Amino acid sequence: MRCPFCGEQDTKVIDSRLVADGDQVRRRRECQACNERFTTFESAELVMPRVVKNDGTRVPFDEQKLRAGMMRALEKRPVSVEAVEAAISRIQARLRATGEREVKSLQVGEEVMRELRDLDEVAYVRFASVYRSFKDLEEFRAEIERIAKPKPEPV
Ligand SMILES: [Zn+2]
Repeated sequence: MRCPFCGEQDTKVIDSRLVADGDQVRRRRECQACNERFTTFESAELVMPRVVKNDGTRVPFDEQKLRAGMMRALEKRPVSVEAVEAAISRIQARLRATGEREVKSLQVGEEVMRELRDLDEVAYVRFASVYRSFKDLEEFRAEIERIAKPKPEPV
């Protein structure tokens, strides 16, 4: 984003928040050349960061692909479509709010795992086992055990 004061290309995002029900992103930026600050309002769909894959290639953020990956993990699980869509919206909102132009695919995966963990733990393990390269089997087993532990009953 070009600085309106001096025309410098390199401006830094210093604050980023969603406004207008998440349709817009309001950003405070600071020019790296003249130190002037200014505010921009950007259309949320235009500011989805690009995704940097493990091999370094950049691809546009793909909501369909995200949904497909989550639905695969949630196959035959008792989770409503509405809950999945809400999770997808939250993931996108958080990625937008980073203010970054690019995010690592790993970070997208972490966001998905965070949502799946709340939605359905079986789906979470399915997704994690495919997505995350668990360092070794031990780590994976520990995760399974953590999940398998019965939750304490509310008193
Ligand atoms: Zn400037």
